[in-house]
Formats: sequence, C-alpha cells, structure tokens
Amino acid sequence: MTNPFFEPWQNAFGLPPFDLIEDHHFSEAFDRAFEEHRAEISAIALNPEPATFDNTIVALEHSGALLEKVSGVFFNLVGSDTNEQRQAIEMTVSAQWSNHDSDLFANTALFDRIESLHQQREHLPLDPDQRQLLATLHQSFVRGGAALTDLDKPRVKAINERLAQLETQFSQNVLKETNEFELILHTPDQTKGLPDSVLAAATKEAEARGHHGAFVFTISRSSITPFLQFAEDRSLREKIYRAYVQCGDNDNAANNRSALTEIANLRRDKAQILGFSSHAEYMLADRMAETPLRVHALLDEIWRPAQKKVNEEAEDLQQQILAEGQNFKLAPWDWWFYTEKVRAARFDLSEDDIKPYFHLPAVRDGAFSVANKLFGLTFNRVEEANLYHPDVEAYDVTAPNGDHVGLFLVDYFSRPSKRGGAWMSEFRGQSGAIRPIVVNCCNFQKSDPCLLGLDEVATLFHEFGHGLHGLMSQVRYPSQAGTNVKQDFVELPSQIMEHWALEPEVLKDYAKHVSTGQPISSTLIEKIQAANTFNQGFMTTEYLAASYLDLAWHESPQEETTHVDTLEQRTLDRIGLIDTVSPRYKSTYFQHIFAGDHYSAGYYSYIWAEVLDADGFQAFKEKGIFDPDTAHAFRTHILEKGGSAEPMTLYRAFRGRDPEVTALLNHRGLISE
Ligand SMILES: [Zn+2]
Repeated sequence: MTNPFFEPWQNAFGLPPFDLIEDHHFSEAFDRAFEEHRAEISAIALNPEPATFDNTIVALEHSGALLEKVSGVFFNLVGSDTNEQRQAIEMTVSAQWSNHDSDLFANTALFDRIESLHQQREHLPLDPDQRQLLATLHQSFVRGGAALTDLDKPRVKAINERLAQLETQFSQNVLKETNEFELILHTPDQTKGLPDSVLAAATKEAEARGHHGAFVFTISRSSITPFLQFAEDRSLREKIYRAYVQCGDNDNAANNRSALTEIANLRRDKAQILGFSSHAEYMLADRMAETPLRVHALLDEIWRPAQKKVNEEAEDLQQQILAEGQNFKLAPWDWWFYTEKVRAARFDLSEDDIKPYFHLPAVRDGAFSVANKLFGLTFNRVEEANLYHPDVEAYDVTAPNGDHVGLFLVDYFSRPSKRGGAWMSEFRGQSGAIRPIVVNCCNFQKSDPCLLGLDEVATLFHEFGHGLHGLMSQVRYPSQAGTNVKQDFVELPSQIMEHWALEPEVLKDYAKHVSTGQPISSTLIEKIQAANTFNQGFMTTEYLAASYLDLAWHESPQEETTHVDTLEQRTLDRIGLIDTVSPRYKSTYFQHIFAGDHYSAGYYSYIWAEVLDADGFQAFKEKGIFDPDTAHAFRTHILEKGGSAEPMTLYRAFRGRDPEVTALLNHRGLISE
C-alpha cells in the first residue's frame, strides 16, 4: 500500500485518513518531507533573480507543505495517543527537525536575500501584515544564528541537537513517573471521605491497571486533586502528595536532575553566543513583555498582595484544624482538604453540590452557545467522521451565512497514552481560503455521567478560547494564523473565555442538573460567585512561585544552575514563600519549561495574559457581556488577526487604551473594590 501522506486526502473537511495511517508511514513521510523542503529552500536561496518579497518571503511561507501535512498529524497523535513506536519516532524526528532548522539558519545565500529585503524595508511597497512577516522572519533568522560567525555556527547547531534530545527525554521521564505511581486502596477506612463520583473514577483506573475490586489513585492532576480534597486519612494524603512532588526526582532511570541542569546550562551558552546575557533575556526579546525586568516588576506587583492573602488563608485553615479538636500544624498535603472544609463552612458549597450541574456535554454546549451569541458561530456534530480515537468528536463550525469556518475536534478524556494537562492544537492551520482543523484535548476522568468540577469547567472554556483563536483566524500567511502570536499574548483569547463560563446569565443557560434537568438556582450561582475569590492567595502564590523558579533557572549564572535544591531553595527564600505551599511545579516535573523551550522564561505569561483578559472582559462588563460592538471589536482586532500585527497594537485597537492591572487584582480578590 502506498504511504497516505504521499496521496491527496479526499476526506470531508480535509481530515487526515486516520484509518489508513500506520506508524511506519511517519518515518518515511518525514524523510521525504525534510528532503522536499530542503530542495524548495535551496531553489529560493539560489534564485538568480534579485530578492523580492514574493520570490523570497512568500516563497518561504509556502514551502514545506508535506512537512506541515505529516507533522500536523504526528505531533497531535504523539501528544494525545502515543505508544512506544511513536515515542521512538519522536526522538528521531526531533533530532532531524533540529538539524533541519539549523541548516535553514546556516544558509548564507538565503539569509543574504532576507537581510537585503530587511535593509530596504522602508522603501518596499508592503502592507502592514507583510511588514510584520518580514520583520518576524528576519528576527527568527538572527535568533536562529544566521548572523553568527562560521566558528560559532556549528556550536549553536550542536547545542540545539543536544537540547532537543534532553527536552524529549525530560518529557518522557515525567510521563513514565506519572504512570508508574499508584496508590492502591482496598478498605473503607482508606477511602473515607471520598465522594462516589471520585471512587467511581478510581475503580475504573484500578480496572484499567488490573487491580480488580480496588481503588487506584495516581499523581495525574485529575486523580490526585480530588484525593487531596476529600480523603480523610491524613497519612495517605501525605503519601500521594510526597509522590507528586517527588516526580522525576526518584532514585531511578527517570530522574530528571541531570537533564534539567544540562538544559539550563546549554540554553545559557547558546544565548551568550547569540549576544544575550541570559536565556531569559534572549527569550523575552521576542515577547510582548520584552525584558526580564518588566516581568519581575509585574510579578512583584501581584506577589505582595498575594502573600498577604495566603497568610490569612493559612491561618483560617489552622483554625479549622483546631476547631476539629486536632492540634497538628498545617502541612502542604492538608491544604486542599481543609480548604474544602472552610469552603463548605463559609460558602455552604461543596464540589458535590456543584458537579451535578456540570455534565460534560452540557458544559461543552454552553461554550458553543457563548460563541454563538458573541460571534454567530454554529457547531454541528459530524457523526460519520473517521477520527483517531473513539473518544474524539468532530464538529463542523459554520458562520451565520452558512460558510464553513473550520472543523473542531474535542478529545476530552484521560487515557494512559495521552500526556497530562489540557491543550489546543491543529491538524491544519488557516491560511488564505484554507480553513483550519482544530482540536481541544483535556484529561477529564471518563465516567458516566461525566461531571466536571469548576476548575475543569474553566479548563474546557479556556481551551475552547484557544480553539476560537485558531478557528476564526483570517490572515493571508500561514505563519501568522490563529495562535501563532507572541507567547505572552496567546493566553488572552483562552483566559477571557473563562469569564463567560461563570456569568449568571450563561450558567442559567447551560448548567442544568444531570438528573432533573433543572437549571442551577440563583442561590447556588451567588455562592459560586462569592466562592470565586476564595483560596486565591494560595492559587496565586503557588503559580507565582513557579514563575519565579522559571526565571531563576533562566537568568542565574552557571554556578547557581548546577544544584537543583540550592537554586530552588534560594529562589523560594528570596520571595518568602511560606512552607505550607509548594510551587505549582517543582523543577524535576516542570514540563512547561523543560519539556521544550516554548514556555521557558515564559511561565509568567499566564498572569501577564490575565492582566489582559481581566481588563478586556471589563470592556464587556461595562456594556453587557454579549454587547455586539465589543464582540465585533474583539473578533476583528484580536481573534481574526493572529500574529499579523504587534500584540500591543492589536490590544489598543480593541480596548482603546493600554491594559491596566486593577481588574486582575479585583477579580482575584487580592484587593477589595
Ligand atoms: Zn492556554
């Protein structure tokens, strides 16, 4: 049989023929794809005509079609449905890719053409998106080492290859460790306090792992979080918590210490060869924030009120412990459990009261309905689509005039072959008239009925926001489409969408009791709203601590980045993190920053974007959450524009002014209105 990647795809919506693709096709397709792309690049570089925007920049934009085609499928599957063969291919391909990029940036003839266009940029008759494209491409070549001496070029190339290996290794180690640990429970004493829905998921997990009749909890977020919230056995909470914070740091082959220190050191070496003092300086030069100094300033502005708040919260929890006649001192593994009790006492609101109103299909339809009211989009289920896993669903997204906007896949359930967390990604991006195929992946525990906690509801709306950014893209050039924006801007569309999820008007529409069909009551909504700022000291603190840790790894000198414990301790001491809170991720399982460099020196960007989303949603609040003019402005200036202009320019066009931090502090209850 021929390799399906070498044939045109005939499926509706341009879906890949998943039923025909076998794992061995990937290696063959990647080999040919790299070769074809090399030939295309060479033809552009050696074109005897003088460089023009069309024969160089646009030609590069449209090169590598086969590479797009095969990587669009492969990297989605390796994330959401991996196996040993795919992991082995990933190792090889990531090294090939790094070589391929290095060769591209080392192509002097090509860089000369880009450089000459860059020199003439003021005099070229270019539209704003074309200017942006030229500037971005030129910068990516300079950052990729194109302007380096012949002596330094091979050094950077070798570093990139080694980094690609180490980052893949880091990620595979975390997956291995996450699958390895299991807390197996048998007796009612051990499971005391755990709600039925949580136990049902734990039974399924046990079945899947061959422990029939038992309950199994793991250190994946969706399993450990409810356990820490509800399990009354304090020693078991301590056990699973310790296993979690020990991930990637055990005495075995999956230990990540040496990989991560080598990553930090190589990144610094590379940044310095490229003329930056640190990896953080290097990364931030390409972000909306621009410098580490500005990031520190923002984090510090939020840290102070957050620290005050977390101390108050710790005191509340200690009081709760004493009130129950216990006399131990609050420990990190107590935080979720007593928070749940204080929450119940103060707001008379437990996850078990709430969850029946958040049946997964209803929440999903609620998100679709918000997109309909804001932007007129309709989501129609495509039943006959042939997809990569039985859990995946496909939706044909259409505009009010019936035009096809894109295909939207949802892949919501957790499985061992899927990496942790939640994300949006694309099988095909938008460019010109080609419409995108977008996927949302989550890790909800599969159960019947599948009821979501409020965090999971927020996650669903969050990924849906990224999805809309991909789906609604209207740009000319593929590298500017959808979520291809500066990294500290990419969370604006996702995080702003979370605000709609909990608006009373929206809740009344989708939050209906799974058994009775009754819409959620106003009383319960008021409680949810009141509880919204609850525990924000903790949430903000653990997040900011991880952000400071990320910066420390990427701006400290070599003598400080060789010892994991020392660097962590020094960073946390400096900010004064209380000892009952851990950073949201510790170094040995901090995948955002070590499993790839995309979020390195960039974990801060979630809260940077939150400044934008809180301030942006304020614009809707002022005029009505479905105000057509505000929705139109958000659509045309943000969602459709992708990376075709500078983020600050787009934001100002939408909001009419620069972003302000006050809405964020209010929203988190860190200052009172
Ligand atoms: Zn996101």
